[in-house]
Amino acid sequence: MKKWITFALAFCMLLSLLGIQTPVQAAGFVDVPSRALNEVNYLVQGGVVQGSSPTTFNPYQTITRAEAATFVGRAIQLDGTKRQTRFNDVNPGSFAAGYIESIAAKGIMSGDSSGKFSPEKLVTRGEMAIIIAKAFGYTGNAETALMNLGIASGMSNGSFGSSQTITRADFAVFLSRAINPDFRLKQSVTFSSKLKSTANNLNIRTGPSTAYPSIGKIPAGTSVTGAFSVGGWMFVKTGSVTGFISTYYLSGSTGSGTVTEPATPPASPAPPAAEIDSRIPTQTIILDPGHGGTDPGAVNGSLREKDIVLNVGLKVNKLFEQTPFKVKMTRSTDTFIKLADRSAFAKNNKGNVFVSIHVNSSTNSSANGTETFYYAAGNPYVTDSKLLSSKIQARMLEAWGLKDRGIKNGNLSVLRENNMPAALAELGFISNAGDSAKMKNEAALSKISVAIYNGILDYYKAKGYDITALYR
Ligand SMILES: [Zn+2]
Repeated sequence: MKKWITFALAFCMLLSLLGIQTPVQAAGFVDVPSRALNEVNYLVQGGVVQGSSPTTFNPYQTITRAEAATFVGRAIQLDGTKRQTRFNDVNPGSFAAGYIESIAAKGIMSGDSSGKFSPEKLVTRGEMAIIIAKAFGYTGNAETALMNLGIASGMSNGSFGSSQTITRADFAVFLSRAINPDFRLKQSVTFSSKLKSTANNLNIRTGPSTAYPSIGKIPAGTSVTGAFSVGGWMFVKTGSVTGFISTYYLSGSTGSGTVTEPATPPASPAPPAAEIDSRIPTQTIILDPGHGGTDPGAVNGSLREKDIVLNVGLKVNKLFEQTPFKVKMTRSTDTFIKLADRSAFAKNNKGNVFVSIHVNSSTNSSANGTETFYYAAGNPYVTDSKLLSSKIQARMLEAWGLKDRGIKNGNLSVLRENNMPAALAELGFISNAGDSAKMKNEAALSKISVAIYNGILDYYKAKGYDITALYR
């Protein structure tokens, strides 16, 4: 038994001791033969196949083309939305309509010359081999490819049994082996793509969707080697662990070496992968480095507010650019922008969060510390503005360790004239020796940028978003 299966089972036993239901337990089929049980449970866990009841799977029932399209479509994460298809014999309201259209669009299954898909026609072992080979990108003869990869074995008489119909249990076994090499009859993958993780606490899962349990977490910048992808997920190895990681959080090029199986292009071209909260890509963060151009802001010798806050703003922007959040800057160069144009920019870009970045100054050089402003009237998002301010303030204090001047109500144009949760961060006092030492230090500026970034994530977390994987 493979390592992760042992782990998953031990984990499930622990959960069952705690009285917690798991998807693995839920698939308590009494009619599945033991030779196919792990594979069927694996696909049920991933939502690829379902039982006919909580305790029965109907393992010996033959598979129709509509079912095959659905199972494979789910496995490689195609769009299953029921809709009109290119075929004249598929009811747009049928359970399989979406997957049939998606799978035809990818050239994995096709219809006949009269425009029929024949959804009720039974699938043979030979047809199954071709469907799986096309879906997972295997080249050459499909039956040979499946046998070489340890996905299928021949019949006892040495043939593939191409013309025989295939049962639900057997289809599940072949499909789970195609998805996860741990089920295969032999070791047949090469980890040849050199990649790096781009998010912290990134889950390695037993299968290619968030429905599968996590078997480990890795920090950003971890080296992993990839073997092949299934939809938007890649089968990787890091240390002694193998499993699936959302390709959205992997960067790097394919290294030299033989790729045993060509990677299938991601099913959904645009992020997000299922690993992240699907609401995040709808969120736009507006970053507003204060002053600029002819307006230097506060100055202390050669140290100018406009340079410090632009530097920090660009760093925060870069952090958000590596996430599914949208991010816009009111200025990304040394240019003067009128206050009214800053809030107008935020509104025009339909911002969901506005963060202005400044540094303080005082004629009293002993004045020091970090503070964040919100506006308690005018802007309709007072509570959220206050929340956003408190989260950014807490992170900035943690990063620089300066005096806590708190969050304050401030009648400031960019906060008042805005129509989204808005905060204005004053990193510290440029006029104070201790505070300004931080502003001259590139490492400290990176640290406060991460703090602002994490503070904005904290705000989203408090609003119920799952942003854990994005923390720096
Ligand atoms: Zn300022």
